[in-house]
Amino acid sequence: MTTTDRNATPEELAGVPSSLELTAIANQLFPDLTEGIDAVASHSGSVPAQPETAAIPGGAEFGAFDWQNPFGLPSVPAANAGTVQAYAPKVVSLEQAKESENAVSAGAANYAGAATGERTSGNDSIRIGSKTLAQIRNDFPILSEKVNGRQLVWLDNGATTQKPQAVIDRLAYFYEHENSNVHRGAHALAAKSTDAYENARNVVKDFIGAGSSEEIVFVRGTTEAINLIANSYVKPLLTPGDEIIVSILEHHANIVPWQLIAEQTGAVLKVIPCDETGQLILSEYEKLFTSRTKFVATTHVSNVLGTVTPIEELVVIAHRYGVRILIDGAQSIAHIPVNVSALDADFFVFSGHKVFAPTGIGAVYGKKELLDAAKPYHGGGNMIADVTFERTIYNALPNKFEAGTGSIADAVGLGAALSYLSEIGMPCVYRWEHELLQYALREMATLRGVTMIGTALDKASAFAFKVDGYSDEEIGKRLDEFGIAVRTGHHCAQPVLRRFGYESAVRPTLALYNSPDDIDALVKALRSFI
Ligand code: PMP
Repeated sequence: MTTTDRNATPEELAGVPSSLELTAIANQLFPDLTEGIDAVASHSGSVPAQPETAAIPGGAEFGAFDWQNPFGLPSVPAANAGTVQAYAPKVVSLEQAKESENAVSAGAANYAGAATGERTSGNDSIRIGSKTLAQIRNDFPILSEKVNGRQLVWLDNGATTQKPQAVIDRLAYFYEHENSNVHRGAHALAAKSTDAYENARNVVKDFIGAGSSEEIVFVRGTTEAINLIANSYVKPLLTPGDEIIVSILEHHANIVPWQLIAEQTGAVLKVIPCDETGQLILSEYEKLFTSRTKFVATTHVSNVLGTVTPIEELVVIAHRYGVRILIDGAQSIAHIPVNVSALDADFFVFSGHKVFAPTGIGAVYGKKELLDAAKPYHGGGNMIADVTFERTIYNALPNKFEAGTGSIADAVGLGAALSYLSEIGMPCVYRWEHELLQYALREMATLRGVTMIGTALDKASAFAFKVDGYSDEEIGKRLDEFGIAVRTGHHCAQPVLRRFGYESAVRPTLALYNSPDDIDALVKALRSFI
């Protein structure tokens, strides 16, 4: 168990090494691990061999990789797979990193890779929680599309994810059988749509481990969510000279709303720097706190580098200074199991479309007492209990923040998407994607003229790179000819790219349905012309 255990009680956590301590232990045990990862970045070779088994104090035994049960967990019914009690993501992450040789050999047993072009087994023998990879891919009809005469390879998941049939069917069912506005009507369909909408809210609550569905506010997406918290909760706290901390890794959606309220109130922004690998520097973070610090807003996963930030420590340190923190979960929600209660997050926000749900829907999690204290963001219908020309009494949570008619069907679709993921099991999704990302990084390292940007030990989904002699746009266009969708440009995160000396980059992003074949297709296509 580690301090990152999502469901551990405070008593269970006492005396358990923190993930920082685990990192230190890992560095001691495997001093050349970082070097190995750097080697990937500079394409100078493979990750060095690691001992076959080793034990981390308080952690897991590192041994052979069991695809059927990647966490070595007791079996649980599929319906409960998302609420597994014993999950410890960072132990697994370190374990994965440290047994990289094992992981790759386990991987090689399943997929030989671009180097040989051979497969010892296919997607139907790769099990991810309750399904095989082949079954998961079948669940997403768009993955069968042909683009430019080739099989679509969707590696643009950071921009948006594809939708499973379960979500598409749920939307159709809603419009065929349940469509009505919610809350207000006194007829049968109003009751049906309200039930579907509120059930979706409950699914979101369970998926992120919130205490109550009152703490879940539906919004259009992460951008609206951050603007809501900035204006409703943070802005009233600010006086001239007050400080808001953000990180260098942020998407513009987690920079500009804070700049806007800073401009309006005379507050200032302070920025957590990152190191050469793209990881936030915790000691520098801590130095930013002063008596004027009023709020922290940081991302969980960088949308450009894929860095998984030390979110537990970021929260603990903010709270040590009595400061509230918002976590931008746009790039973590589909990839890493999240438990906002165990994290003690004050606010956690995400977009539905990044987690296999429709566009136009997302959610804010906020602790009840904080949402209660916050002012409404939008005024209008639904958010009121009573209106006279003299005064308005606001509705109770969460309606207080849901003025007007929201994206009802899309919220229902979000519920279907999260249920789909829970049935597979988020811990297994996390483990699978980690394995696939390691594979992708190793294969990318075989290409000459490619520079990887961001080599943090803990990464999820995204990897950004430059190719000597080619513009990023050219790379994107050439890959498109092979049916491969990656994103190029500044990825709405200019400060972090500039930190590494670039204005843009090529950025593939993985999701649970991506296969080793997708990675091979990318590497093969790049090799054919660079
Ligand atoms: N934050 C991060 C980290 C993101 O990756 C994105 C989308 N790329 C956003 C915020 C904004 O999300 P949306 O456009 O869905 O509001």
